[in-house]
Amino acid sequence: MNEFFDPDWGYSTLGVRAAEPRTENREHSASVSLTSSYVFSSAAEAEAVFKGEAPGYIYSRFTNPTVEAFERRLAALEGGQSCVATASGMAAVLSLCLALLKQGDHIVASNGLFGSTINLFNNVIARFGVATSYVPMADLAAWEAAIRPNTRLLFVETPSNPLCELADIAALAGIARRRGVWLCVDNCFLTPVLQQPLRLGADFVIHSATKYIDGQGRCVGGAIVGDAERVGKDVFGFMRTAGPCMSPFNAWVFLKGLETLSVRMNAHCANAQALAEWLDEQPAVERVHYPGLASHPQHVLAQRQQSGFGGIVSFELSGGRAAAWKLIDSTRMVSITANLGDTRTTITHPATTTHGRITPEARAAAGIGEGLVRVAVGLEDVADIKADLARGLT
Ligand SMILES: *Cc1c(COP(=O)(O)O)cnc(C)c1O
Repeated sequence: MNEFFDPDWGYSTLGVRAAEPRTENREHSASVSLTSSYVFSSAAEAEAVFKGEAPGYIYSRFTNPTVEAFERRLAALEGGQSCVATASGMAAVLSLCLALLKQGDHIVASNGLFGSTINLFNNVIARFGVATSYVPMADLAAWEAAIRPNTRLLFVETPSNPLCELADIAALAGIARRRGVWLCVDNCFLTPVLQQPLRLGADFVIHSATKYIDGQGRCVGGAIVGDAERVGKDVFGFMRTAGPCMSPFNAWVFLKGLETLSVRMNAHCANAQALAEWLDEQPAVERVHYPGLASHPQHVLAQRQQSGFGGIVSFELSGGRAAAWKLIDSTRMVSITANLGDTRTTITHPATTTHGRITPEARAAAGIGEGLVRVAVGLEDVADIKADLARGLT
């Protein structure tokens, strides 16, 4: 490991340089430590390492140099003391809950969460006696009112999928501190390049590394970032025993992804802003949801707590489902897939895909109409993205 890095470096530098792993071969680009276990020179050395009295790796479910490099670099970017990498974004949410909560505890979560997170809370975590209440994410009084004596965790995703609604992280952190509960922010949509929840007072950040951190749609992975005690000890201890750990190969892909994250996120933002402004002028488009538009109801909050508006744009077509499907089916370049955070622009119809399994009433309450389309804007020339969408808008 090249130990030298300065936590005060800018985000581009941290992404490229922080915690660069280096073996005695002094390779310039990180190598992958693809091994499940590590050998010892003697029984006594094995004992010392197992006891934690001597440094060294034992087994890749516990620690692995490539995974560790990814964890240290992401922790540096988020401004956290510790990071634990996980097999997926969902494994990160699961690990946080199982490591820190117990039977009888309660979660308050925003109602615009990623669908699998809602299923996890309602159908898995609930079976272990941890209930979840949902509140409108922008309504601070509702968060406050939903906190019970047994509440331990506030969980929020901002901006939300697919409507790009925002929660005020600093205000939620203030509530969390005052009421003695933790605040966890799923920072998948913005990454530390555009938003640093820990610096706004949150206790934990969750990532699906599958999205922008990979950035090219190759690997599934996730991470939890936070303090040395809760994350460095409790979540790490859970991971070591329960095992939803990240593969070293995936960690290497994500480590490489962090090197270009700052450049890519700014390019995603620029393309998304241009596309949102163009969509806003199209007669077939009733409404565009993008925090970078002055018409977004939380545009000022977005300017305050984010350093960019992100790569996700959603919009409503006046023609309902028929118009939305026609637009999607008219594309030739844009990919019809629910993934996001890829170099390639993706398009999806939330009402029949990502949000298709919730009841029509719940969908309506969440503001997800039949005419809504979500575009995760990629890194192609924005003129080509516009041209591909224009065909289905006329
Ligand atoms: C994709 C996603 C997840 C889950 O991550 P996986 O890597 O697919 O398990 C969680 N939260 C958000 C906001 C996501 O977009």
